[in-house]
Amino acid sequence: MTIEATDKNLTVGIIGAGAMGRGIAQVAATGGCRVRLFDTNPGSSKEAVDFIAAMLDRAVQKGRMDSGAATAAKTRIEVIETMAGYAGCHVLIEAAVENLAIKQKIFSELESIVDDQVILASNTSSLSITTIAGLCKHPGRIAGFHFFNPVPLMKLVEVIRGVLTETRVTDFLMALAIRMGRVPVSVADAPGFLVNQVGRGYTIEAAHLLGEGVSDVVSIDRIMRDAAGFRMGPFELLDLTALDVSHPATDLIYQQHYHEPRYRPSTLMNNRLQAGLLGQKTGRGFYAYEDSQQQLADEPSAPDYDGRAVWLNPSDPERRTAVLEVLKKLNATIDDGDEPGDRSLALVLPLGIDATTAALEAGTDPRHTVALDTLLPLDRRRTLMKTPVTDPAFVKSAQGLFTGDGTPVTVIRDSAGFVGQRIIAMIVNIGCSVAQSGAATPADIDRAVTLGLGYPFGPLAFGDALGPDRILQILISIFEITGDPRYRPTLWLRRRALLGLSLLTPET
Ligand code: NAD
Repeated sequence: MTIEATDKNLTVGIIGAGAMGRGIAQVAATGGCRVRLFDTNPGSSKEAVDFIAAMLDRAVQKGRMDSGAATAAKTRIEVIETMAGYAGCHVLIEAAVENLAIKQKIFSELESIVDDQVILASNTSSLSITTIAGLCKHPGRIAGFHFFNPVPLMKLVEVIRGVLTETRVTDFLMALAIRMGRVPVSVADAPGFLVNQVGRGYTIEAAHLLGEGVSDVVSIDRIMRDAAGFRMGPFELLDLTALDVSHPATDLIYQQHYHEPRYRPSTLMNNRLQAGLLGQKTGRGFYAYEDSQQQLADEPSAPDYDGRAVWLNPSDPERRTAVLEVLKKLNATIDDGDEPGDRSLALVLPLGIDATTAALEAGTDPRHTVALDTLLPLDRRRTLMKTPVTDPAFVKSAQGLFTGDGTPVTVIRDSAGFVGQRIIAMIVNIGCSVAQSGAATPADIDRAVTLGLGYPFGPLAFGDALGPDRILQILISIFEITGDPRYRPTLWLRRRALLGLSLLTPET
């Protein structure tokens, strides 16, 4: 039996009518497919049908859907009482609980019910497709079809090819996803697939920064939201996802990658999980919540600039010129001596190195030195970094100066790569490692991450916007200073940065 994904008679069987199964059923039905829905808990299927009807009615009320189309979609969904009811389906999408033994049992039962050619897909978010297919008679027809929650709102679908998955299967699922109004990307079977793998960089690196005492939750979130342009700070995101969901997933990805240091979780996360600080759903996570509202203190007021002269490290003329412009607008007193005067604030502009190293390299007194992050735009939020011995009067002076035009300033402790440089370099590097593995095309990596995670750019375009050579320099420096292999740059990044190419450049 061969049928096109666009055939009007296409019948899709969905196993599991929970949060994901019902969402997939809805988009399949609105895409014109006939749907058969089964759940071991019969109440769930009934609830799912009512839920979908309510969703479609709301879409009609809001003018997003024609009432005739909504009624037609509702009539396409049929609840079946046993798995035997899948006989005659053209494709099956499993969305039952995340448990390998249960999924393998479902797949072997399905093989006894449907034709040998029928495509069997799993919506698993963390289990290996190749392993699920391992016990099947026809592993070539099995693939991952990874939707995101809530399905009707999240356009992305990852089509996962296991080691033995046939091309006809992935081609079919790509076309079916389009019919369902989704945007599919093709991804090889790998721990965390694409989006969940690349997404680790943001929260893991933030947790390490917190664990190392570089900065606090609110400040890290503010830097990433305001200066780096993310919709949510990493800790707000962790509170929304809930630590009992995100930490086990992070841990599993780390284990499945055979302890690749880039995915190494922070011990802080497990401690917080054990303490029950799960996030919004328990009212207490990285933030406190009252009636689901995040409780957040106001931005602290900044001290006044005391008029202290500013000496700017001349070692990077391009960044120096940009900062001089800002200093002029702030009416700073400039110390243009070859060396900073005794009372001058020594401003250094490090990429990937800490303030201590930057002060020693510039030959400035670490007690009078403050570092400014120039990787991220300087007009939304500015990050200043102290050495362990910077005199508080010099920190206050720098803080007062840089808030002079109303732009908020965050002061952090010494860190190779500040907050923003470290987190962004990690995201870019993980995106590059996926590109290097050939698991997905560079364009699909960026498409998946912007759609699936809502980042301002995909990891590769992010690297391009900030400069692949700068990202490389940041990673090399952090690696050198910390000795931690999690910061070693990928060869994908290194080669493209050295050749002056975009990180989106595929192999010829
Ligand atoms: P859920 O708990 O909301 O629903 C699972 C449903 O499967 C339940 O109604 C349960 O009764 C049913 N079920 C259990 N065993 C079954 C069986 N043998 N046959 C038929 N039905 C069975 O879970 P969910 O959030 O919908 O997740 C389903 C799958 O989708 C999981 O594999 C999960 O990892 C994956 N996923 C979830 C999300 C998410 O954000 N929730 C996102 C992407 C993928």
